Amino acid sequence: MNTAERALLREVFPLGARRDERGVLVLGGAPVDHLIDEHGTPLYVFDEATLRAQCRAYAQPLASSYPNSLALYASKAHLDPTIAGIVAAEGLGADAVSSGEIRVALAGGMPADRIVFHGNNKLPEEIAYALDIGVGRIVVDSLDELDLIAEIATQRAGPPAPVILRITPGVEAHTHEYIRTGAIDSKFGLQLHSGAAEEAVAQAQAADSIDLTGLHAHIGSQVLDVEPYADSLSIVLDFAATMSERHGLVLRDISPGGGFGVSYSEADDPPAAGSFVEVIAATLRARRLDPEPRLLIEPGRSIVARAGVALYRVGTIKEIPGVRTYVSVDGGMADNIRPALYGAKYRALIANRLPDGAEQLVTVAGRYCESGDVLLRDIELPTLRRGDVLAVPAAGAYHMAMSSNYNLVGRPATVLVRDGQARVTRPRETDADLLAAFAAVEA
Ligand code: PLP
Repeated sequence: MNTAERALLREVFPLGARRDERGVLVLGGAPVDHLIDEHGTPLYVFDEATLRAQCRAYAQPLASSYPNSLALYASKAHLDPTIAGIVAAEGLGADAVSSGEIRVALAGGMPADRIVFHGNNKLPEEIAYALDIGVGRIVVDSLDELDLIAEIATQRAGPPAPVILRITPGVEAHTHEYIRTGAIDSKFGLQLHSGAAEEAVAQAQAADSIDLTGLHAHIGSQVLDVEPYADSLSIVLDFAATMSERHGLVLRDISPGGGFGVSYSEADDPPAAGSFVEVIAATLRARRLDPEPRLLIEPGRSIVARAGVALYRVGTIKEIPGVRTYVSVDGGMADNIRPALYGAKYRALIANRLPDGAEQLVTVAGRYCESGDVLLRDIELPTLRRGDVLAVPAAGAYHMAMSSNYNLVGRPATVLVRDGQARVTRPRETDADLLAAFAAVEA
């Protein structure tokens, strides 16, 4: 292994990742050859210690710098009942964007009142379900949705629906356009500039079936600077002050969203979780608000990305002389759409023989019938052989969560490792599972 590969293992793979005396990658105390003998490939391995450490990386600085706060795990990044249970046990809440995510979070033991329901087009039945289970807050994304929630809450004649308004502050985080959500041209949120945000405050304050508790703004994803959070929070706090004068808004909840960046390569250097928290807490404290609002933050990727490693088996190797060598693996865009969707870049190691140095420039392609199904373009790896195991780190977020059955291939299994033991958290989908989905269709 060269210096960069050692740094990759130390800084991007899960905590405690190492090589054993045979040169095999060990995750959570479990050698990966044992894991794949038992569970096959492709396999997504999640390390429990890393997941818990990332929860604490937010919970601890929040507790010391702004105790009236709650970190919500943005469950869109990756959710199963086991992970929901761990995150809940670490004291976090959850941000969910569908009744499916709410149900899985509840199934894992997440308390309903710690769930915040997001989304730009929540279905009426999802809104009713969220109110039924006593969801903590519903984040309103548009004037149209505010009307819908008010109508549903009125019909139910229960307590008013607790809502937060999602404001679009117009702050651009330095990140890829496709994953930017705070800019003015965004499908998300109520525009400050157009007056929609103020109109929503006025309407919410006037509606008996709505309890407006606060404001939210999310500026993007994989954000690698702390300043955009201070900027966007300041804009939202200024707006809150004006809304308090004009419409009697009492700010009880404030959220600068999530989007805190992570390392995908040893060359990346994102701010620590605590640095994001510190800037946000300082910006808020500086206002000396009375009453002091509760601070909500929504880290998704930065909780779960580093905990996950994707393991693939090398299959066909095709050399196109003078052009490139394609190495195909048994997964690809159906379990990791990020490279094809927005050009995300990854690094990898050969998990079954870590000490072997890089010898060859190759392109790692997926198995799916799509030219864009390339996982790693131009990566230096040892000379590969059929059967080698490719380990891709920082694979915990937005891989399985965005996975599909393209080409009618079953999704990989996921396992959680801890103290050398692995347990299946999502079984591998088989051809039989796929066929079963069509079983009720008449011939
Ligand atoms: N909160 C909101 C409103 C989001 O839209 C997202 C992601 O798109 C997140 C939180 C989580 O972002 P990340 O996983 O990058 O932390």
